[in-house]
Amino acid sequence: MFALSWNESNDHSGNTPNMLTQTASDVLTDKFGRQITDLRISVTDRCNFRCVYCRSADPENHMAEHKLLSWDELERLARILVGLGIRKVRVTGGEPLVRPGVEEFISSLRAMGVQDLSLTTNGQSLAERCERLVAAGLNRINISLDSLDRAKFEKITRTRSFDRVIAGIDAAQASPLRPVKVNAVLVRGINDDEVESFAEFARERDLIMRFIEFMPLDADRAWTRDLMVPAAEVKSRIEARWPLVPVAHERSETARKYRFAGGRGEIGLIAPVTQPFCGFCSRIRLTADGKLRTCLFSRDDHDLRGLLRGGAGDSEVAAEIRGIVMQKEAGHRINEPDFVPPSRTMVYIGG
Ligand code: SAM
Ligand code: SF4
Repeated sequence: MFALSWNESNDHSGNTPNMLTQTASDVLTDKFGRQITDLRISVTDRCNFRCVYCRSADPENHMAEHKLLSWDELERLARILVGLGIRKVRVTGGEPLVRPGVEEFISSLRAMGVQDLSLTTNGQSLAERCERLVAAGLNRINISLDSLDRAKFEKITRTRSFDRVIAGIDAAQASPLRPVKVNAVLVRGINDDEVESFAEFARERDLIMRFIEFMPLDADRAWTRDLMVPAAEVKSRIEARWPLVPVAHERSETARKYRFAGGRGEIGLIAPVTQPFCGFCSRIRLTADGKLRTCLFSRDDHDLRGLLRGGAGDSEVAAEIRGIVMQKEAGHRINEPDFVPPSRTMVYIGG
């Protein structure tokens, strides 16, 4: 094990990490001393929704089947990564529930000893899958819901699935999955008028409502700073109606959490644009086609599929992963003048 050697002068804002003077080799650690313990696995780039802030309205443009990792390949990489100290795994996509076999994959992650196992879903087929997901060993769930208004929901997702998503949230709340988090990406002029309604939804249902700043990862490349609703604005609007009490969080967590004073429910503010949390980032991402990404906004990703299919042994793959993690960026550069969005958009990365 190693000791994290932060200098007195380190910036503790969480914006950027400082370069470590010494590192140890027996944990998955980057050159800034950040321990990498969280993995997001995208199991598919397909999705049955076309959320305006994520996918374009174009016809299906998913990758060819042979380019995607098989379940066996995903399991093998997950096992190697768990051996390197990954403790927290989130299964995502695309829409993870559209790939048959996701429950079996979750069971295999559980059998590998993953302690914290979660899923992010649009909720479309959650009501009928929830029981199987719980039986597979899933601990917790994040469900996307970008509007409480049916017509607006249909415009945003370009589906008619509002009732199904609400049924999915009902099923999750009735199940042992905890916590149940509901995610909304706020886009100015589209759903920013619903902040207070979402807060009420959290209070009425006693769940965690998370507001995510719109990031420049949309397929249509329509993102502008003006379309993004800053987390500080969300907080002050909610606080104007209901006093909020901060809830302790791990330094590496993406959300700043608050509960309602004297009420049920919680809110989470995820502010990657206005309050970057890169300094304490503990995450890496595996895409459905076997690329390891050290940041959502990485310009390059690192191919592991070729290694697997080329016959590399586990120790060779593990060594490659250690090397890749060493290249993890200090932070994203959304707020820098030379920022260039990654060529892969959210649906191909896995949020
Ligand atoms: N399909 C699932 C879902 O929608 O929950 C899982 C994959 S989706 C890519 C994961 C998360 O990324 C969702 O909460 C979604 O709202 C969020 N997301 C997608 N595009 C985004 C963007 N441009 N900015 C911020 N969040 C985004
Ligand atoms: Fe699909 Fe999720 Fe992207 Fe919406 S946010 S289009 S549900 S992957």
